[in-house]
Amino acid sequence: MSTNTATTHEGMTAAASPGLPQRVKVICGLLLGLRRHDLRAANTFLNAMYPGVPWLVRVIRFVGWFLRNGFVDIPKGLEDVSWDKPVSKVPIWLAEGNPLENYPFSKDPQARLPESAEVVVIGAGFTGASVAYHWSKRSADEKLLVLLEMGDAASGSSGRNEGVVVMGRYYSYVYKTVNHYLEGVRSDLSREARKALACEYAAAYCQAAYVNADMIEQTVRSEGFDCDYARKGWVQALGLANQELLKESAKAAQDTGFTDWTTITPEQAFDLTGMQTQGLSGLSVKAATFHPAKWVWCLIRKALESSKVSFFSRTRVSRVEDAGDFYRVHTQRGVIRARYVVNATESYTPLLHRQFHDVIQPMQTQAAFGTGAKNQLKPHVAASTVRGFFGRHGNGMLFGSDATRVRDEEAGVIQPSRFITKFLLGMAPQLFGRARIHVTNEWSGTVSYTPDEYPIVDLMDDKRQYIIAGMAGSGTGVSFNAAHHVVGRILGLDQVDYYPAKYFSAKRFATKA
Ligand SMILES: Cc1cc2nc3c(=O)[nH]c(=O)nc-3n(C[C@H](O)[C@H](O)[C@H](O)COP(=O)(O)OP(=O)(O)OC[C@H]3O[C@@H](n4cnc5c(N)ncnc54)[C@H](O)[C@@H]3O)c2cc1C
Repeated sequence: MSTNTATTHEGMTAAASPGLPQRVKVICGLLLGLRRHDLRAANTFLNAMYPGVPWLVRVIRFVGWFLRNGFVDIPKGLEDVSWDKPVSKVPIWLAEGNPLENYPFSKDPQARLPESAEVVVIGAGFTGASVAYHWSKRSADEKLLVLLEMGDAASGSSGRNEGVVVMGRYYSYVYKTVNHYLEGVRSDLSREARKALACEYAAAYCQAAYVNADMIEQTVRSEGFDCDYARKGWVQALGLANQELLKESAKAAQDTGFTDWTTITPEQAFDLTGMQTQGLSGLSVKAATFHPAKWVWCLIRKALESSKVSFFSRTRVSRVEDAGDFYRVHTQRGVIRARYVVNATESYTPLLHRQFHDVIQPMQTQAAFGTGAKNQLKPHVAASTVRGFFGRHGNGMLFGSDATRVRDEEAGVIQPSRFITKFLLGMAPQLFGRARIHVTNEWSGTVSYTPDEYPIVDLMDDKRQYIIAGMAGSGTGVSFNAAHHVVGRILGLDQVDYYPAKYFSAKRFATKA
């Protein structure tokens, strides 16, 4: 065993580096613990880490990377880690209970669904809760909106995420993903025309996202929502390999006027987050953090103060039937006749509407939480690298990673990869210094991506059924403004069109050459 020692934070003297037997034990444990999702996530890593590299070379490099991590970083990182037995699969945001649990049936077991409503909203996460909230504020008459949720409010991804209120993806990121997609499907357009179209998309998305972020802050403040909201930014350490890309993207932000995205030095990154970085990092200046489930609960509770909104949890919609002038929304508790329907079901959408298979693609992302973690990581600010995200919450650290495509049927299934958790625990000391951490919770959620990674906010038929989905893991950057937009359209209100059908309609996928 090596005799190296190091002084760490909190005056903790680090134990000697783990010896060979310990390292072998760790790597064997990792290999033996590999489950189906670990292997799928490894494939995601391969694709993300070595884009454009031949398959065999990728695998060889990945094995090298795996051995280095398995033998060096992970054993070192795990020395300071202990685990609850068993580690809970409940996200920390839901660990203290849900104030809207089994609503309204816990208090009123005899409650019945109404026979009819003006609007039925399916799904009570960020999106559905926002639709209900805006309806309660903007609808002038007493027409009813019914919010239906198959689990409890915020039981989907909205109660399982990192809690960063994003400014949306930055301009050049959107431009690049959309342009890449267009290269594959719009060979009828010239290169320049595709680029111009991708620029239009990126500008439309960023404009809507910036407004969305400000609307969330204004709402938290004006309503006095108690959801731990703080606006201190999001530092993204993209590593030395991505410095040129980073500079280009910050320049594009300046050139286009979407200036939230900028670069900062390692010293500035450290001051903001406590994260040790190399080279420049990206900073989303006006990103915020909050308690995501509390945000959902606050929105719903505020909406329920109005007589225009009803909410029924544990009520699964099995089918939406078009009956001409109205829709029949079928649930296990009965049928509601509705003039409008809003699908706020994100990654679950293809299960309800099969035509969205491969359009709304469920992807698994995961997180874990450990208490202790008295390292350098600062509170109320988001910190991430290309491999993972980290945030301080209360007395501990939340961290996570992954974006692996899963089958439609796996939407919402909780199946976190322990390998990813251990890998991130191996990385944390290098970023934030060593500290003991006791892992208490580990969970996953499903977000959804469209083929061009650009959201859909529009009618899904040519009648009165709407969809807000495909937010590419950035739901806080879309949901509130998109919900405002859809409510305004249903009510026929005059409003700025932040989600023009040209860019945000699902029909854009039918424009293949
Ligand atoms: C680990 C992780 C970290 C993330 N970090 C961030 C972050 O920091 N910032 C950010 O912006 N985003 C983040 N995301 C993504 C974010 O959580 C989602 O984009 C967002 O929650 C989507 O909100 P939603 O309301 O559209 O969907 P959901 O929250 O998934 O809500 C959909 C709801 O619909 C319900 N439902 C589905 N089908 C039916 C049906 N048939 N009948 C009735 N109800 C139904 C579901 O039960 C669910 O509650 C993260 C996600 C994960 C998993």
